Amino acid sequence: MSEAATPSQVFMYHPPRSPAAYRQIVLYNTAGKKPVHAGRLVWQLCERCRQGSVYEISVGKGTRLDHFGRRAIKRALRDGPSFTWSMTQETAAIETLREVAADLGVAFAADLDGCRHIRAGRDGDPSDPESWDGPRPRLEREI
Ligand SMILES: [Zn+2]
Repeated sequence: MSEAATPSQVFMYHPPRSPAAYRQIVLYNTAGKKPVHAGRLVWQLCERCRQGSVYEISVGKGTRLDHFGRRAIKRALRDGPSFTWSMTQETAAIETLREVAADLGVAFAADLDGCRHIRAGRDGDPSDPESWDGPRPRLEREI
């Protein structure tokens, strides 16, 4: 079941520039005059090895990590519901990932570092718009 974004929130999906490269969901708060970056989830997939890897979860001031993380992780896991998922960085968000994976019946392995395709896909800084040369981001409604 998906939850609708509140009217002052917009989720943008940034597709990967190659299959195992970074993809991300960026949350913007649009209540003010200018959209404010409020959260980011970065993940990668490898179809061949059937692995998914969460690279980074971050939130801006005023956004709850567990709330954003839960919604964004659900979106990411939809890309590979039968894959084995892991997280590259040991942060508090790994517990959220573990919980969401358990809720959805998706396999989770804490000690996986991603296959060689995923490791090779870690190229550039996903949070730097200047280095993001993937396909155009698009509005994501099903979050
Ligand atoms: Zn692979």
